[in-house]
Amino acid sequence: MNSKLEITTIFESGNGKNIKKIGENHFYLETEGESSSYAGYFCFKVINSGEKDVRLKVDIKLDPEIKFTVDDKISFLRSQPPIWISNKKRWWKITEYKKADFTLYLDFKVPAKKTLFVSNMVPLFYTDFTNWLQNKFLKKDKGKLYKIGESFEGKDIFLISFGDIFSNKRILIISGLHGTEFPGIWASKGIIEFLLSDSQEAEKIKKNFAVDIIPYGNPDGTVAGKQKTNAEGIDLHREANPEKEPVAVEVKAFWKWIKEHPPFLYINLHGWTACEKGKEPFEGAIRPDISIYKKWNNEEKVLECDRALIKNANPISRYEKIVELGISYGEEPDSLLALLPKKYGTIAYSYEPNMRTGPYGCMKKGIKVLKALVSPFL
Ligand SMILES: [Zn+2]
Repeated sequence: MNSKLEITTIFESGNGKNIKKIGENHFYLETEGESSSYAGYFCFKVINSGEKDVRLKVDIKLDPEIKFTVDDKISFLRSQPPIWISNKKRWWKITEYKKADFTLYLDFKVPAKKTLFVSNMVPLFYTDFTNWLQNKFLKKDKGKLYKIGESFEGKDIFLISFGDIFSNKRILIISGLHGTEFPGIWASKGIIEFLLSDSQEAEKIKKNFAVDIIPYGNPDGTVAGKQKTNAEGIDLHREANPEKEPVAVEVKAFWKWIKEHPPFLYINLHGWTACEKGKEPFEGAIRPDISIYKKWNNEEKVLECDRALIKNANPISRYEKIVELGISYGEEPDSLLALLPKKYGTIAYSYEPNMRTGPYGCMKKGIKVLKALVSPFL
């Protein structure tokens, strides 16, 4: 009897193209990348509508339209990040799979009458999470949920604010600027749950600061399964200067909020799944060069933040030539990470939790990063 297997990427945060059946219970698909550093994400759904469990093989090739270098090939072959499978109730790992020439060879069981999601990131679906947020904040009076704008395609950009809304000691946290960098989005969820909790540490932070969190900075990118840009092809991380064309509607929404609520501390959460240069799990931390803080007279505080972050979050820098204690310096000039320090003296860090630690590991890491970076101010 023929098995009834179907593979699709047509769903929220799905990524994969040119899906072909190449043998009995054997499929092929290609990732839909945007550039060599943003080509590895995939997320597909397997539907087994038959009466029998099936052993399924899927060959996943990194987008053949992208030009990769020899270095890309070396780091691809060297890293063995886990692949994640889900029945939407929980996620588990496949750690053993073969790889060669930018192709992953998966082989796993799909039980009868079951649908499974397969990805190298554990997605935190925009629709599920925003529903969760809306339910949470309707019931609890511990934080406020704002809609600060809409994406190019009209999806809501949410901001959750804790503490005194009129505070002038504000922390801004943004994740998901690169849509499918889910480790950062999970980290934001961790921080939100932490600040909703009754823990004394959370109470202390909320008493001293306002904490503003935008979990999905690029909702269109997240929903479309894009790793880098928004619906217009703009990298919202690297092209966040409101004075330089093109100005994305998402960027306008961020700045409208920022101008009314400028932060003294900015935490920009990204995400990673591979390891790099043999260091695992790679978790990069980046901040602007210290020289920018001279005129604000807060260099010493920045160095205190560095030390607290290194001690409590264990970042590993990816750029060996500028590594010092695990934190890299320097940032794209039109990112918020560079613009906020220039305009407001904001102490700004980017952090990339790694999906190798799992979604709960990423949630915990988000809390650690927040606690570390506020500690010099408490
Ligand atoms: Zn990123």
